[in-house]
Amino acid sequence: MQCPFCASSSNVTETRESPDGTRRRRVCSSCKRRFTTYERVGSPGLRVEKRDGEHEPFDSEKLKHALERITAHRSAVGTEDLRRIVRDVEATLVDAGSRTASWSDIAKLVIDRLAAIDRVSAERLRVNYLDDDGRLRLEDPEAAADAPPQLGLFVGEPGDEPAG
Ligand SMILES: [Zn+2]
Repeated sequence: MQCPFCASSSNVTETRESPDGTRRRRVCSSCKRRFTTYERVGSPGLRVEKRDGEHEPFDSEKLKHALERITAHRSAVGTEDLRRIVRDVEATLVDAGSRTASWSDIAKLVIDRLAAIDRVSAERLRVNYLDDDGRLRLEDPEAAADAPPQLGLFVGEPGDEPAG
């Protein structure tokens, strides 16, 4: 299992069965960060609080697709990196005992992990895909076009912005 932060290999330090599946504590052989993985069938039942206060099941595919848009044209970040980030964010929330997470909790965890791989992508997420409350927006910036534009922020498609 690759480390979600630096993609090095990791070692299992503890294994136990939990209601959410087989839980493994791991430590990275390179950066020594600790993380948790769950092996399971189906979803661990993590729910996400939406803007309107309703809850919906955490959708890891939806999050991965949003991250694919955010990191488009960034060669430093591959699909496997995103899969790892999403899996680790989900496991971190489940491991913290959260049955419900907010999109701002998720955004913080994602930015943390993305920044370790590619600071430009993390910054792009921070600037273009967080709403005023720090919640991650999964839809395209265009889909939120009827919201008042935030002064000075780039709201176009990833890739339209100047290289750099
Ligand atoms: Zn590591």
